[in-house]
Amino acid sequence: MALIVQRPLGTADVTPAEIHKWYTVEQVAQDTARVFGFREIRFPTFENTDLFLRSVGETTDVVQKEMYSVMAKESRFTLRPEGTAGTIRAVMQNGMLNDALPQKVFYITSCFRHEKPQAGRLREFHQFGAEMIGSASPAADAEMISMAHTLLESLGLRNIELNINSIGCPACRAEYHKALKEFFASKTSELCGTCLGRLEKNPMRILDCKSPVCSGIAKDAPVITDYLCEECSDHFAQLKELLAAMNIEYKVNPKIVRGLDYYTKTVFEFITTDIGAQGTVLAGGRYDGLVEQLGGTPTPALGFAAGLERLIMTMEKQGCDFMEQEKCDLYIVPMGAAAVKKSAEIAGLVRAEGYTAEYDLMNRSLKAQMKYANKTGAAFVLVLGDNELEAKKARLKNMESGEETEISLDDSFTENFSAIAMAAMFAAEETAGMFNL
Ligand code: ATP
Ligand code: MG
Repeated sequence: MALIVQRPLGTADVTPAEIHKWYTVEQVAQDTARVFGFREIRFPTFENTDLFLRSVGETTDVVQKEMYSVMAKESRFTLRPEGTAGTIRAVMQNGMLNDALPQKVFYITSCFRHEKPQAGRLREFHQFGAEMIGSASPAADAEMISMAHTLLESLGLRNIELNINSIGCPACRAEYHKALKEFFASKTSELCGTCLGRLEKNPMRILDCKSPVCSGIAKDAPVITDYLCEECSDHFAQLKELLAAMNIEYKVNPKIVRGLDYYTKTVFEFITTDIGAQGTVLAGGRYDGLVEQLGGTPTPALGFAAGLERLIMTMEKQGCDFMEQEKCDLYIVPMGAAAVKKSAEIAGLVRAEGYTAEYDLMNRSLKAQMKYANKTGAAFVLVLGDNELEAKKARLKNMESGEETEISLDDSFTENFSAIAMAAMFAAEETAGMFNL
């Protein structure tokens, strides 16, 4: 086949054969959010470009290289590169900060960044994110990390290392920036062009540069934790105590600065070595300045986002369980026009009870229909021909055990089918249980 137009580089399709993996992650994410008291928020796919310039930051990779922006009439719009800016804008614009705080919201959404596509790095990817607005307490940091930890555990993931750091507040950062400028001053001939520009405006950004030369030089740079003010250093100490009390293992990693400018104080990443170089499956931190930066009264806030593609890749690699693929409960095999009508009627009744029911729409032979039912994994098959219609009963075949039961086609059909299907389900569960012993 010569497909004339292919999907854009760095995007992916999810076929029905893979969708159960996405349902698993989305379901577990929603359940985790619910038990932590977070409610879903939805916001537009594109925003005024200015929102990201003001929040994500002008010296970040995202703003400098990765945004998909368009001019439409007089306005400039950008496809969301991440979810925090849109969430906070929406929370503010809908007056939610006037309600009881903290506000706790989550989203599952697509993000767009013009990056170099590679394993774990796409141009359209998906995030589950959670944001908490209103609490300055280190207990809120611990709570968010605990929620992230619960999510990863509930997905069945193992060996994911939690790295934490504090990148301080604007007060401690002023001192730190001075130290960084001094450190990099003698190395300007080696830094990449982007980092040269960052040296003046935002030297901490250099630590997050993806160029091996820059990150090599940055290895020996001063670390932010040596420059924290008393308040930030206290906050970090309390967080560490809380995590220890919660039995959440962590490593302090002073090199973590995160790729977005709005972060203050706590930042964290959950990192796996199972999926190659792009091993950060979930990342987040505190961003106490963002609400004010967007024009609100100063309000502390924090959050995290997990990359769904990276979570699924890690689950596949680690052999984690996904929920089962949807299967057909009842496949009806009609022979002739009258049987097709009866099939539609029976399918309707069974569907009303919540079972999946299908019947032949291809005018296939009996043999071909049975083959199709087998291939698609139907649990039960009912063959309907003229004889069955006349006798008002047919044989219901359990495709797994091969067992056949005579079932009457009158009003009692659904009830009887339901009883047989339930019994088969319990039997299957018991067999599975026996194997587990
Ligand atoms: P990285 O250092 O990997 O570029 P980042 O700092 O740009 O990450 P965030 O903006 O914090 O990442 O995004 C949170 C999470 O979203 C990441 O930890 C990752 O799991 C996922 N993610 C980010 N960018 C991509 C991408 N281009 N493709 C797939 N997943 C991504
Ligand atoms: Mg990035």
